[in-house]
Amino acid sequence: MKNLDLLKNLNSKQKEVVSEIRKNLLILAGAGSGKTLVLIRRIAWLIYKENCSPKSILAVTFTNKAALELKTRIISLIKNYQNDIWIGTFHSFAYYILRIHYLEAGLTKNFQIIDNSDQKILIKRILKRLSLQNKNYSINNILKHINNFKNNFFDKKENYFYENNLYNIDLSKIYDEYQNYCKITEVIDFNELILCLYKLFLHKPNILQIYQKRFQNILIDEFQDTNDLQYRFISLLYNKFYNTKIVLVGDDDQSIYGWRGAQVKNMHRFLKDFDKVKTILLEQNYRSTSNILEAANKLISHNNIRLKKKLWTHKNNGRLIYIYSALNEFDEARYIAKYIYHNFIKKNIKLNNCAILYRNNSQSRILEEIMLKFCIPYKIYGGIRFFERQEIKDTLSYLRLISNYNDDNSFERIINTPKRGIGDNTLNVIKYISKKYFLTLWKSSIFLLENNQYLNTMSFNSLKKFIILIKFLKNNIKNKKLSIIIKETIINSGLWEMYNKSSLAEKNFSKINNLKELINAANYFTKISLKNENIKNNLLIDFLSQTSLLTDNNDLNNINQETNNYIQMMTIHASKGLEFSEVFIIGMEEGIFPNKISFTNKNINEERRLAYVGITRAKKKLTLTYTKKRYLYGKEINSIPSRFINELPENCVKKVNFLKEKSICFKQNNSLNKEKYFIGQIVYHAIFGKGIILNIEIIKNNIKLQIKFKNAIIKWIMSNYIKSYI
Ligand code: ATP
Ligand code: MG
Repeated sequence: MKNLDLLKNLNSKQKEVVSEIRKNLLILAGAGSGKTLVLIRRIAWLIYKENCSPKSILAVTFTNKAALELKTRIISLIKNYQNDIWIGTFHSFAYYILRIHYLEAGLTKNFQIIDNSDQKILIKRILKRLSLQNKNYSINNILKHINNFKNNFFDKKENYFYENNLYNIDLSKIYDEYQNYCKITEVIDFNELILCLYKLFLHKPNILQIYQKRFQNILIDEFQDTNDLQYRFISLLYNKFYNTKIVLVGDDDQSIYGWRGAQVKNMHRFLKDFDKVKTILLEQNYRSTSNILEAANKLISHNNIRLKKKLWTHKNNGRLIYIYSALNEFDEARYIAKYIYHNFIKKNIKLNNCAILYRNNSQSRILEEIMLKFCIPYKIYGGIRFFERQEIKDTLSYLRLISNYNDDNSFERIINTPKRGIGDNTLNVIKYISKKYFLTLWKSSIFLLENNQYLNTMSFNSLKKFIILIKFLKNNIKNKKLSIIIKETIINSGLWEMYNKSSLAEKNFSKINNLKELINAANYFTKISLKNENIKNNLLIDFLSQTSLLTDNNDLNNINQETNNYIQMMTIHASKGLEFSEVFIIGMEEGIFPNKISFTNKNINEERRLAYVGITRAKKKLTLTYTKKRYLYGKEINSIPSRFINELPENCVKKVNFLKEKSICFKQNNSLNKEKYFIGQIVYHAIFGKGIILNIEIIKNNIKLQIKFKNAIIKWIMSNYIKSYI
C-alpha cells in the first residue's frame, strides 16, 4: 500500500496518530472513534514510512478475539510481512517467549497451561490433601485469592495472606501446595504465565536484552484493561537506549476488567513514567448513529471519575432505541426471535451483523431454546466453551497426558474414561501412594505396577492396560500430522467408540460432531501457525496451549474465522472491540445488569462502563429488553428495570409492545401447531374467563399453557380447554 493511502479518509487527529514521528504516544479515545483502525495504520506507517523492520513491531491486545481481529486487519494491509510482526495477547506473548526460554525460566520443556476449570480441580484436590475439605471453603474464593496474589505479586505474600486469621493461614498453605503441585505436574496458570515472563526478564537481563533490541515499537490496544503486572512488564521491555517507542490506545470509559486487577490509572502512570509522551484525543465516533451515541454519552456521564471525553458524530439521528418490557424471560427471547424473523429471515437479510448481548453466560440458555424453536441460526460465543465441553476435554486430556505423563488432572480425568474397570478404590490407592511418596499419579501407578502388593489382580491388570495404552498412544504419534495425531488418539483411546455408541441419543450426536470439529481446528491451527525460527515447533504442545489460552474468554470460533449467516450471542465482556449493525441487550434489570454483586462491591461504575461498552457496539439499531418477572434461584421474582434504562435520554428511546403476528410458518412445525399460541396472547377459558399466556410447554402430544386469569390466578391448562384465542 502506498504511504499516502494510509491517511486516506482519516480526520486530522487520526492522521496525527498515524503519521506522527516515532515517539511515545497515548491515544485516549472514545468507543468507535477509530482507535483500532489508527493503530493498524500506524503499524503500516512505521514499516513503510519510518522504515522500521516488521520484526521490531509488537502489537498486543487484551482478548483472543480482539487479537484475531487485529491480525486479520493487519494482514489485509500488509501482506508480505504478516509473519514478521508479532501480534497477540499478553498471554500468548508470554507463552511464545517462555517456550523458547523454558530452561532459564525454570520450566520444563513440555509445560502446559491450565485454565480456570483445571485450577479449580487442582484446588479441590489440594483441600483434600491438606485435610481441609470439611471447612467448606469456597473454591472460587480461593481461586480468586491465588490469582489476585499473582497479579499483585509485588505486595509481600506475608501482607497478602497473613492477616493473622485462620482462613489466611490455610490460604497460605493452600497457595504453597498449589505452586508445588503445578511445578511437579509441569503446568502453569494464566497469571503465572505473565509473572513467570516478568521474572525471567527481571532476573536474566541478557534475555531481556534480546527482546528489548528486537521490539522497538510496542503498540497496545485496549490499554485501559491492563493490570499492574502487565504495566510493569511493558516498562521492563522499554529501553531508551534502544530507542523503544510505545503507542498506547485506550478508553477509560471502557475499562471492564477491574475485577481482574485492571487499572485505568496505568494511563496516568504512563504519562508520568515514560519520556515525552504525546497525548492525542479522538472524539469523533464513526460507528453509531447520533441517537445511540447520545444515549451512551448520557449514560456514562453518571460516572464521576472519568477523563471526560466528549464523543460526537456526523451521522444522523437514526432509529430510536427500542425498549421492550417483557412478561418473563421466555417472552423476552420470543420478542427478539419474532423481530429477527420479520426483519431478517423473511426479508432474506443476512444475520451475521446482528448480536444479542447479555451480562451472564447463563442467560443464553433460554435464548438458545427459543432460537431453536424459531429455526433462527445462531452461534454462542462463550457459555460452555468449546474447549470446556466433556468430549473435548476428554480428548485433550489424552493428548496432554501423552505429552506429559505428570499431568495429574488429565490422568485422573481419563483413567477410567472410557470405562476400563478402574474404580474409585484403585484410584484411591494411587492417590495414597502419591501422597505418601509425593509422586505424581503416573509415577505412583508405575510404582504400584512394580510393587505388586497393593492392588488385587483385576485392578492391577486394568491399571497395567491403561499404562500400556498411554505408552502406545505416545509412540503412535511420532512424526505424524497434528490432525492425524488427534484423530488417531480419539479412535485408539476408545473415546470415538464410546461417544459413537451413544450417538443415537441426540445429545451425543453433537458430541461426535464436536470431535470432528476438533480435528478441523487442528488442521486450521497447522495452517495459521507461525513458523518460528527460534524453536523447533512442537505443534501438538502449541495446540494444547492454544486451547487453554482460548478458554480464557472465547471459543473455537476465534480460530475459525469464517463468518456465516447466524446471529451471534455473547456476553458484553466478550463483545469488546467488536461492532454490529443491530444489537440486542437483554436482562436490563436491577440485580442482573447491574449485577447483584456490584451492589455490595460498590462497583456500579464498572457495571455502567460495561453498559456503555454494550450500547456502543451498535451501529444502526439498538434494542434493550427487561422482564417484569423472572425465575431466579428457583423462584419467580418481580424484577425492577435497570437503573441504566432510566439514565438514557427520553428523546432517544421508544417503548415498544409485543409483536402480535402469529402467522409464522416454521419448517419444523409439528402437527400440534404450537405456534398458534404465543406468550402474551389473550385467551378465554369457559370457567376462568379471560387470561394471558405466560408460558408454553409441550408434553407428549399436548400443549400446556400457563395462563394468568383475572384476580391474578395462575394456572397450567391443556390447550384443548381453551375456548378461543386472538
Ligand atoms: P472500540 O472502542 O469499540 O474498540 P475503536 O475506537 O477501536 O472502537 P474502530 O473499531 O477502529 O474503533 O472503528 C470503529 C468504526 O469506525 C469502524 O467501522 C471503522 O472502520 C470506522 N472508522 C474509523 N475511522 C473512520 C474514518 N475516518 N472514516 C470512516 N470510518 C471510520
Ligand atoms: Mg477497538
